[in-house]
Amino acid sequence: MDVKAIRGFNDVLPDEIGKWQYVEKAAREVFEGFGFSEIRIPILEPTELFSRGIGEATDIVEKEMYTFTDRSGNSLTLRPEATASMARAYLEHQLYTFDPVAKLYCIGPMFRYERPQKGRYRQFYQIDAEVFGVENPMVDAEVIVMLIHFLNRVGLEKLELQINSLGDRSCRPRYREELKKFLTSKSFQLCEDCQRRLQTNPLRIFDCKVETCQAAIADAPKVSDFICSECQKHFDKVKEYLEMAGLTYILNPRMVRGLDYYTRTAFEVVSYQLGSQNAVTGGGRYDNLFQEIGGLDIPGIGFAIGMERLVSLLPKEKEFVLRPDLFVAALGEGPFKEAYRIINQLRLAGVRAELDYESKSLKSQMRRADKLKARYALILGEEELKKGKAVLRNMATKFQEEIPMANLLETLKDRIQQNP
Ligand SMILES: [Zn+2]
Ligand SMILES: [Zn+2]
Repeated sequence: MDVKAIRGFNDVLPDEIGKWQYVEKAAREVFEGFGFSEIRIPILEPTELFSRGIGEATDIVEKEMYTFTDRSGNSLTLRPEATASMARAYLEHQLYTFDPVAKLYCIGPMFRYERPQKGRYRQFYQIDAEVFGVENPMVDAEVIVMLIHFLNRVGLEKLELQINSLGDRSCRPRYREELKKFLTSKSFQLCEDCQRRLQTNPLRIFDCKVETCQAAIADAPKVSDFICSECQKHFDKVKEYLEMAGLTYILNPRMVRGLDYYTRTAFEVVSYQLGSQNAVTGGGRYDNLFQEIGGLDIPGIGFAIGMERLVSLLPKEKEFVLRPDLFVAALGEGPFKEAYRIINQLRLAGVRAELDYESKSLKSQMRRADKLKARYALILGEEELKKGKAVLRNMATKFQEEIPMANLLETLKDRIQQNP
């Protein structure tokens, strides 16, 4: 076939899907335990939502969005992130009239036109959690505690939590000016993009990977030296609540985050698991976002986890492939029909059971049972069947026993329990 997937778009195949389902299930369980509800939002939104919500002077809006005009002439964009859409839904459906506090999560694909690399796709998946309507620093800590708990739950170890405060509307502009002044004196060192950023959004120069730009910002003023007393108080409380929850953290005064709407608490989780340093996820508070998109003054905080990265960091020794509990191998026409009857019964009882649709030789059926990694095989022959019996084989130990067909389900459940 010569029709292929679009460049940067990826298939997640059955041998990988177990990891994805495992992570998604854990996210739902952990987040719901913290009082969050799932929200499902459209993949397409009016372009304006992102240009206002994320900010015009960002890489995402400037060059990474999938934007097109539909048949009615409206400019639409495939969502590059979920926060703006979740905030839009909260405002549009006036969720705040029921309860000003909304704790929401969303799992799904996002789209960015970036250069595809190994493990990085233009359609990528995120797990997002957001709290709208609470300014109290307790919720900042709560969100971080939930995130770390979730990452530990899926088996990630050697994690480092980094936090910073980015200030707010009253103190951040002053920092921005100081940073601009400082970087203007070093502008000869900046790349072309950063020359432009210097005018539009100097904070974003922190995200630039170009070496000379990194050198230029190495001794730039720190945002932590500019935050006002209100922001400092808020940040101190966040730290206190994190300590109360038993979490250790590292202060990272260089963490700035490129998006315009971030305010106050920012955090990142770094994994040292594979010997090297990997940013796993990040998030923060964004008390200005709602005003950008809707005019109401509503605080928000949340995080997004990239699923591809997370899945790649899962413990290697853990098994994620879905295996049949039982493979029924039948020899002859009578047993084949009996196998079909048994399989239906077992499946209705919740046993993952499989058979071979072509009744071939025992050898070839057992080969398929092996390939599917079945835990047990049930061998049904004419003779045994007449006696109401069959042979149950443990595929791992090769131990075989003759069992009565009458209580097959009980026997099977018992054996699976013994050898999960
Ligand atoms: Zn640069
Ligand atoms: Zn402030």
